[in-house]
Amino acid sequence: MSDFEAQLRAVSLRVTRPRLAVLAALRDHPHVDTETVIALVRADLPTVSHQAVYDVLRALTETGLIRRIQPAGALARYETRVGDNHHHVVCRSCGAIADVDCAVGHAPCLTASGDHGFVIDEAEVVYWGLCPGCAAEPVQ
Ligand SMILES: [Zn+2]
Ligand SMILES: [Zn+2]
Repeated sequence: MSDFEAQLRAVSLRVTRPRLAVLAALRDHPHVDTETVIALVRADLPTVSHQAVYDVLRALTETGLIRRIQPAGALARYETRVGDNHHHVVCRSCGAIADVDCAVGHAPCLTASGDHGFVIDEAEVVYWGLCPGCAAEPVQ
């Protein structure tokens, strides 16, 4: 039994080829958007429908097997790295995304200066800037 099969069974999801294909695609290509996931899955399963992939992404996100991230102004992206409160650095120019380990090691990694009585369990941190490729481009 593969790791992915064990993961699906652990959250009571049936093991299906589209679910295994989506998990494998995201393991090999972290932070891709839905259209890219569909293209990657179709390389293995040419007849899978858009709707089937949408449904798989939703089921895997709801059960916590994958994480959905959506930087402001960007399409939703997905990844299999879950549960470690890592953050992302996003290129303002080309949209490239990379992982940044949590600065503290657990959520919330920023202490709010005032909590207004809320019980805060997470700080959503996105670092914005230019990726090495875009930073190296000569200014027009
Ligand atoms: Zn860039
Ligand atoms: Zn990530």
